[in-house]
Amino acid sequence: MFKVSKAKRAFGLCFLTLASAVFAAEVNVYSHRHYDSDKELFKEFEKESGIKVNVVTAKAEELLVRLKMEDKNSPADIFITADVGNLEQAKEQGLLQPIKSEILETNIPQHLRDSESMWFGLTKRARVVVYNKDKINPEELSTYEALADDKFRGKLVMRSSSNIYNQSLLASIIANDGKDEALKWAKGIVANFAREPKGNDRDQIRAVASGDGVVTLVNTYYLGNMATSKDEKDRAIVERVGIFFPNQADRGTHINVSGGGVTKYAKNTDEAQKLLEFLSSKKAQTLFAEANFEYPVNPEVAPSKLVASWGEFKEDKLELSNIGKYNKEAVAIFSEASWK
Ligand code: FE
Repeated sequence: MFKVSKAKRAFGLCFLTLASAVFAAEVNVYSHRHYDSDKELFKEFEKESGIKVNVVTAKAEELLVRLKMEDKNSPADIFITADVGNLEQAKEQGLLQPIKSEILETNIPQHLRDSESMWFGLTKRARVVVYNKDKINPEELSTYEALADDKFRGKLVMRSSSNIYNQSLLASIIANDGKDEALKWAKGIVANFAREPKGNDRDQIRAVASGDGVVTLVNTYYLGNMATSKDEKDRAIVERVGIFFPNQADRGTHINVSGGGVTKYAKNTDEAQKLLEFLSSKKAQTLFAEANFEYPVNPEVAPSKLVASWGEFKEDKLELSNIGKYNKEAVAIFSEASWK
């Protein structure tokens, strides 16, 4: 965690109040991310660039509707959200514009940004297997596909299929294995449910720790957040579970990003580009990595100590745009497989 002393923070606030009168330029952000880390990052950018950052935060779906309704009159210059599924939706709905930037192309690996430069990944997360250490030996784990085997009957707890994280995972399975195999997989997983899908990623981890299930799939940063939680119960829960990176012998573990793009009708395009470039810089990527236990997208920056302690892993290098492309099919397959 990065810590700013109270005095420094107070100084920062004074600085901002004084400076706000003289900001020559500004940039308007619509963001689905609501972490303190992002606030610190925007402040840092204001200091460095002299560009004021105005932020509106809301759910991704709400921001997408708002951007569409506001159309040419939208004050937004940048749209920031979690999951490539949401970024691709913004692209498909014509809400973004391409940005050509050598800085972004250098700082962000190709598979983590849109091939048409409409959106750019800013933080990376892996969707990993979490298992109850007392109930299963990790040697029994291998791939996402293998979780559909009979041997996991009655052992899986999963989040509902209405959640974009599982939709994106299934989209990656469609891209890798084809539609028919993806449907078989989804049906196999449903047959292995220990209970009907309910709750968020944290609830799946809790269910595995309590023994309601043995194995689940969750995004990595939830483990980091729970392991460092003020709530003693959450910390104890993480002690009881293990992390396993699936598909290491083949394509690698499914990853996703949170990221952003410049809006179609941005009035402050240059400022928006500068902000995206700043967010991909070493300095900003270090803050992202320390604050929310996500993986930096910039290969020059190391993950936080805790995240690094889970070990290195091979990631699926599938171009993330594919995940958006197969979202509708993923939703249809989930419904055919009766994955609630
Ligand atoms: Fe999340």
